[in-house]
Amino acid sequence: MSTDFVSTRLTGWGLTAPSVARVATVAPADVAACVKDSGVRGVIARGLGRSYGDAAQNSGGSVLRLAGSVSDVVVDPESATVTASAAVSLDELLKIIVPRGFFVPVTPGTRFVTVGGAIASDIHGKNHHADGSFGAHVRRLSLLLADGTVRELSPTDESDLFWATVGGMGLTGIILEATFAVLPIETSRCIVSTVRCRDLDELLSEMSVGDEDHRYSVSWVDLLARGRSFGRGVLWRGDHARVSDLAPKLAVDPLRYEPRHLASVPPIVPAPGLVNLLTSRTFNELWLRKEPRRKDGQIKSIPGYFHPLDSIGSWNRLYGPRGFIQYQFVVPFEREDALRRCIELVVESRLASPLVVLKRFGAANRAPLSFPMPGWTLTVDMPAGADGLSELCRRLDDVVLEAGGRHYLAKDAHTRAESIVRGYPRLSEWRRIRDSVDPDGIWQSDLSRRLALLG
Ligand SMILES: Cc1cc2nc3c(=O)[nH]c(=O)nc-3n(C[C@H](O)[C@H](O)[C@H](O)COP(=O)(O)OP(=O)(O)OC[C@H]3O[C@@H](n4cnc5c(N)ncnc54)[C@H](O)[C@@H]3O)c2cc1C
Repeated sequence: MSTDFVSTRLTGWGLTAPSVARVATVAPADVAACVKDSGVRGVIARGLGRSYGDAAQNSGGSVLRLAGSVSDVVVDPESATVTASAAVSLDELLKIIVPRGFFVPVTPGTRFVTVGGAIASDIHGKNHHADGSFGAHVRRLSLLLADGTVRELSPTDESDLFWATVGGMGLTGIILEATFAVLPIETSRCIVSTVRCRDLDELLSEMSVGDEDHRYSVSWVDLLARGRSFGRGVLWRGDHARVSDLAPKLAVDPLRYEPRHLASVPPIVPAPGLVNLLTSRTFNELWLRKEPRRKDGQIKSIPGYFHPLDSIGSWNRLYGPRGFIQYQFVVPFEREDALRRCIELVVESRLASPLVVLKRFGAANRAPLSFPMPGWTLTVDMPAGADGLSELCRRLDDVVLEAGGRHYLAKDAHTRAESIVRGYPRLSEWRRIRDSVDPDGIWQSDLSRRLALLG
């Protein structure tokens, strides 16, 4: 069967660096034929396009969206696993599994990501310190290779290729299907403790004790506050609530799950550049004041705790047509000086939007290109094209890399090939495994070319 490709302009979630590719939505059985006809600019898979930069773009080449259906999802309560097409989103999965008493092993800050995208980026969540990243929960996956064959991979069978695919940004092949562990839950609510911290010292010391007692932990930092309030923020720690934690009204239907969509930002924003210094400062001030100094036992819904931004569709348009970048790095524990210096640089620049996240990572996994490692990760959104942004990113890169840290490929839109070589010391090992199954460089993306990932 011939596949209809449509020439399409694509960006990542940050809306920067658009490029045009031949895009098609393809049934698993037709993927091999599309790959065979791909031409010199190669092919890359695309999920829901929630990576911020150019990971799921392929200028002048092909981009394949896998067709998959939720009706094929298999939940096995005995082994607490789910088998799903790589095209299925966490949003679709949660609607199936939460009412049956399970939760995804790892969720990012949005549920609009596919299983394929979750594995290819080896995504992390608020539970990284407790449960690691998504790849740690994958029991098996099927991968379509450049030669059109399909291989079954697991942490024990063809484990090198399995781990090169976890975090491999689609550059080892197209993941067709995966089986992964899910977490048994009693309710669809979380029980959350909040601590509002007056400065960075207080925030870091609060975060350094007590995370181990909770499955989830994350902080927001005000990167516009200076002077005595430098680095002030709010820490939220949470766990899945038990039925006994719920008020009688909620306990009647403890697994009820109804994520709400409140509104969408239109394609043309009435006031582009809505996210600026004034609005961000006001937001931060109000946000901070609404949080209690210290409070335990708040009951929140899954969307309210994990995915608050998902209730507003296309919120990325708020930055206007030039879009924004999300700068995310990790630096090892013991290099709090580097974390502090990065925060100082961002505060001085006055470029940070209110969306800032600070988290402590736990142990890394075996994947050579997996981003998390033990240390501090900071995520900052900044408007693209702003004066001084490139210079700021270069200075931040220097601090991060000198400290032995690295950047997250799923978020990156700015850094250079040298940063990846320094930040990912196992890059050549990954290339060797990758090249063994794709000697002709069929899998390519704008990201792979910009950062010379294939060597
Ligand atoms: C609001 C928001 C919050 C976020 N929060 C977090 C967070 O907390 N933690 C985190 O880790 N990430 C986070 N992310 C990033 C997001 O989780 C990752 O970028 C994820 O990979 C996006 O999945 P996707 O399906 O949209 O994939 P895409 O963005 O479409 O693709 C991402 C990569 O996956 C590859 N890929 C997609 N499908 C397949 C497949 N079937 N086979 C092989 N490769 C494939 C693509 O080639 C590409 O390299 C966030 C993103 C947003 C927009």
